[in-house]
Amino acid sequence: EGVLSGFGRPGATEVQRPRPRLMMNNDKAYDLVVVGSGAGALLGAIRAADEGLSVLVVEKTPLVGGTSAISGGGIWIPDNPDLPRVGIKDSIDAAFRYVKTCARGLASDERILAYVETARQMVRYLGEIGVPYRSMPLYADYYPSLDGALPGGRTMDPRDFNAGKLGAQALESLRPTNPGQLIFGRMNINAFEARSMLARERKAKFVLAWIMLRYFIDYPWRNKSRRDRRLTGGQALTGGLFTALRQRKIDLWLESPLQSLVVDGGRVAGVIVQRGGQASTVRANKAVLLAAGGFERNQAMREEHLPKPTDQTWTATPPGGNTGDAIRAGAQAGGALHLMAHTWGVPTLEVPKEEKFRPLFVERSLPGCMVVNARGERFLNESGPYPEFQQAMFANHAATGGAVPAWIVFDADFRAKYPIGPLMPASAVPDSKMRRSWLNTVYWKADTLAELAAQIGVDAAGLQASAAKMTDFARTGKDLDFDRGGNVFDRYYGDDHVKPNPNLAPIAKAPFYAMKLFPGDIGTKGGLLTDRDARVLDAQGQAIAGLYCVGNNSASVMGPAYPGAGSTLGPAMTFAIRAVAHMVGKPIPLQRTDLLGPAT
Ligand code: FAD
Repeated sequence: EGVLSGFGRPGATEVQRPRPRLMMNNDKAYDLVVVGSGAGALLGAIRAADEGLSVLVVEKTPLVGGTSAISGGGIWIPDNPDLPRVGIKDSIDAAFRYVKTCARGLASDERILAYVETARQMVRYLGEIGVPYRSMPLYADYYPSLDGALPGGRTMDPRDFNAGKLGAQALESLRPTNPGQLIFGRMNINAFEARSMLARERKAKFVLAWIMLRYFIDYPWRNKSRRDRRLTGGQALTGGLFTALRQRKIDLWLESPLQSLVVDGGRVAGVIVQRGGQASTVRANKAVLLAAGGFERNQAMREEHLPKPTDQTWTATPPGGNTGDAIRAGAQAGGALHLMAHTWGVPTLEVPKEEKFRPLFVERSLPGCMVVNARGERFLNESGPYPEFQQAMFANHAATGGAVPAWIVFDADFRAKYPIGPLMPASAVPDSKMRRSWLNTVYWKADTLAELAAQIGVDAAGLQASAAKMTDFARTGKDLDFDRGGNVFDRYYGDDHVKPNPNLAPIAKAPFYAMKLFPGDIGTKGGLLTDRDARVLDAQGQAIAGLYCVGNNSASVMGPAYPGAGSTLGPAMTFAIRAVAHMVGKPIPLQRTDLLGPAT
């Protein structure tokens, strides 16, 4: 942690390390080899092709898109070009101050400035290549009380993408989304529609009816594919990028994991990938861009670096992909590692037969639920940012030994109105229609809190006291313990019909329910240390020639924090743009260098 020396300040030179020359069979050569096929990888490949480079993308799994494809697809873009449309003012100064405070000294000023200045260029480019985004004016930054935060507008959602442009056959190669992001297991839903339904807006019923109608009358498409033609969220993003990749005829090798980097005369000059059961060497004349995700699916690396307890099954990311291969390969080539103890944390829950745990981004914030430890005590603001939620679980577990797992507890009113994890609201799918096997695996249910406590091994008196307190807080609208609903971020996923506090409702009406929560993640955020142009740095802060890195393969520009929804995909793609500009000899200059502090 804290390896900030050098950080590629202007003038930092690329070191040419004296290393043994490696023999290469020059059967394949490209200007750029991109490792991975998440959002940063695909955008980097497309941009490089637009700059005239020959590009190869190598992907480990049989599917394109990585975690990016199953994500919400949101990107956090300060001072973005769509803000005037929604009447919000932003500035580079404010965004820089905000991210700098969030990053707590664990990302260099230069990288932060590079991000906040270039992100808006990146989103313009996304629009040009057919993946337009729009601002979400009500989606607040995650730490609204910090200097420079905005109450909305920086988070952007992809516009729906017509999979017809990609084609039904190619769509089969795009990693499908999560069950949690589909309606009735089939229809995609965008972030505006999801909010409308969760907030039970008046128009929500019409929105739902329109989504269903549109899907069912689209016979021509449904004859070709079971998957919805209308791609939203991470599907729209990666589907759009995959389409742009194919339009440019960029080579893509699936099931071709990177094994190691080829270092030639101190410069990264290619990759060795496993392809068709054989190791094959590909020369990269200009550069290698590592974009192969984090290490969340590698149990040994988790145990080495992350807070304990830790388990690779708790992550909400696809199995079999992100095992830190390219972090290790970069480190072997001399790259320094940074922020390795951090994840993009989120509470997750297990649903039997699903390949990965489900993240609980939203539901925990709705009124009428609370999260408790084994003593039955609340220990956090359930509506706060999800990384802090995960950190609070670890902190409370260290103190009490009873917060991993923790329990989310709610009453019959909550159950009737809101979805949670795989449970649809009881008003739509009552308990009698729910899968039997989910009782006592996905959810627990009892007529009294004391019985529920006995079932889940939680202290009954503690649980009853916490529920009584929540019921009081709901009446006054003030959570005296954790100030739930006390700011604009908390309230974004509240229920505006509930007064006086949209995040607080009594927990009083039987039957009572509980679900088990784990300190999961949506990826790790530590990796190779990079500079403002995404060049990989060594322990002395010198750039390694020919090696660039973006996304969770690299250490996050956000330090330990999550400034706003879209803080992982936004930087992954923005630094891909900067990396390509740098490798083609047109580095993007920083404008507001007056904001930079002394080199750290
Ligand atoms: P990935 O998208 O995971 O791509 C890495 C790729 O590299 C994978 O395809 C993997 O198979 C491949 N790979 C791994 N090893 C090798 C190898 N050796 N050789 C070749 N290829 C390899 N973030 C946001 O910013 N906004 C959101 O709205 C958002 N919503 C989310 C919702 C969910 C449900 C989840 C799970 C995550 C969400 N995230 C969101 C987080 C975000 O999706 C990830 O942080 C991001 O996708 C990481 O991008 P990446 O390119 O680093 O990795």
